[in-house]
Amino acid sequence: MHTLQMIKEQEPILARSQLYRLAPMGMRTVWVESLTSYIHRLAAKYKVKPRAFVTEVMLPHLVLWHETRPSFTTTTGGFYRREAIAINGAGEVAANFAEVIGQLNRRSDLRALTFHLWANPLPARGLLRWVPAWCPACYTAWRANGQALYHPLLWMLQVVTVCPRHRCFLIERCSH
Ligand SMILES: [Zn+2]
Repeated sequence: MHTLQMIKEQEPILARSQLYRLAPMGMRTVWVESLTSYIHRLAAKYKVKPRAFVTEVMLPHLVLWHETRPSFTTTTGGFYRREAIAINGAGEVAANFAEVIGQLNRRSDLRALTFHLWANPLPARGLLRWVPAWCPACYTAWRANGQALYHPLLWMLQVVTVCPRHRCFLIERCSH
């Protein structure tokens, strides 16, 4: 059976915690994980693509919210173009995603994976990157330590172009 279908059909059974209670990386440090990274890792636990995970598992729970927000669209393409950047931001999109995931996996700390505490009330656009950037040296070190690979919130800031740990430029495009 398809994993997403299993998640939905198990809802009554998993009423206490429908989704895996994955621990965010780097909590209470400057290396705290971004909410989009957390969604990617959560989707990977179910072996589904993040886009499918958001569309099929999360969006149904956002119905009440996006009914009051005419600009919001549940079409996958539209959603990713207009809204995905804001998931890590300081506004209502980020707050709503953190709340919905938190309700599904019984975590109350997911708002810390957004810029809520850093930048409120600055808008996400102009503050955050449209294209993710990463430090290859960080990934190499984490892989060597057997640590999960993730995207820190810090790397999402447009003004952060150099990794504070390795002093190398963040990369926006994979050479492969
Ligand atoms: Zn680094």
